[in-house]
Amino acid sequence: MTGFSAATDADLVILGAGCAGLSLAARLARSKTRLRVEIVEPRTHYQDDRSWCFWRPERHDLADLVSHSWDSWRFSDASGQAFSHRVAGLRYQYVRGIDFYERALQRIESASNIHTRIGVHATELEPLGDGPDALVRVETDRGSIRTRYVIDTRPRPMPAVLYQSFSGVEIESEHPLPFDANEVGLMDSMATDAGGMHFRYTLPLSRTRAVIEWTRFSTTPVPGATLAAELDAELAMLGLASARVIRREGGILPMGMLGALPEAPHGVVFAGNSGGALRAASGYGFLRIQNWARACAAAVERGGPPIGHPGEPWLRRSMDGIFLKAVRADPERVPEYFLALARGVPPAGLVRFLSDSARLTDYGHLIASLPKVPFLKQLVTRRLTAARDMVRA
Ligand SMILES: Cc1cc2nc3c(=O)[nH]c(=O)nc-3n(C[C@H](O)[C@H](O)[C@H](O)COP(=O)(O)OP(=O)(O)OC[C@H]3O[C@@H](n4cnc5c(N)ncnc54)[C@H](O)[C@@H]3O)c2cc1C
Repeated sequence: MTGFSAATDADLVILGAGCAGLSLAARLARSKTRLRVEIVEPRTHYQDDRSWCFWRPERHDLADLVSHSWDSWRFSDASGQAFSHRVAGLRYQYVRGIDFYERALQRIESASNIHTRIGVHATELEPLGDGPDALVRVETDRGSIRTRYVIDTRPRPMPAVLYQSFSGVEIESEHPLPFDANEVGLMDSMATDAGGMHFRYTLPLSRTRAVIEWTRFSTTPVPGATLAAELDAELAMLGLASARVIRREGGILPMGMLGALPEAPHGVVFAGNSGGALRAASGYGFLRIQNWARACAAAVERGGPPIGHPGEPWLRRSMDGIFLKAVRADPERVPEYFLALARGVPPAGLVRFLSDSARLTDYGHLIASLPKVPFLKQLVTRRLTAARDMVRA
């Protein structure tokens, strides 16, 4: 990123200081770059509004942020069929949002070349010219910023094949919790009703404390009030209606984009969920964001332009696409599909698939485990659609 003009107010503007914006800025704060970075964020203070989980070996560069981890996780359906998985050397790890935010902000504050404008909304981006050195004007509700590059992580509506809508609470109960305190309920009590497939996600933090989330996969986003009522019913069913609520978290994650991501204007890179960070088949994004932030910070440090998330490799994209379309086509069979994967795919292979590092043998196990007819139907539809698009082109 050389040759920027002194007429700019910043070399790089990051829109949004959430997971992606903070991950990148915190890395830049620790790098040797002296680029002038401005961060624009509407929040004025951070709350413990989410937690991030992922599979990693015990030691890694974010290990000091992990406040809990487990060595086993479970898939079950409403009839009580259950499969517990564990993988030698791997743990399912839990990072509290507030710990992540506070550490990133601390690192950013220590860098004199990075400035955070909190309580500020970005409104528009205007390219100033179209040559290779053209600048971008960022309009905010507190004035404009001229910059060479923009990383835009602002949330954006994303039409998707499916939506993962969820509402959760961290609770403290007076009595021991009615489930194994040493095992994560990754997809518990899976079942389907008129609103699509649903399940419970359970992260036990002690014998009496847990995060419990009610999740739905459906073709349209589920309103927060509906999810909250369903979560209350689930808590009551577990005998936890009177447990003390410590915090809440929830959201709606797109699973599998309908169409391509919009093209970013010259000088602008989309990142985070809005830039393709979320894994279509799972909604996991945290480690993908960390990988992107590492690569983007390195690119900028080398003097190049910032980069976006890498494209999805063909095989992964195809498998995710076929899986999501099969889920969408036959919601009542989805618990059966997930249990078939939990039963038939070795746990290490399933974690590799969910964590973007599946091997060919893992894909082989996935295909062998799933019922053939619905997936072949989706494969044929996909081929016909591709052929039709080629003819039209
Ligand atoms: C509750 C929840 C739990 C999740 N749990 C997991 C998990 O366990 N594991 C996993 O891998 N993934 C998880 N994800 C998915 C993903 O990792 C997160 O969504 C992650 O926060 C995405 O980061 P982001 O930076 O794209 O978005 P955010 O973290 O949402 O950041 C976007 C930022 O843009 C800011 N913004 C909004 N409007 C403007 C504006 N006009 N101008 C400037 N800034 C603006 C927002 O204030 C926000 O700070 C979870 C998602 C949610 C919602």
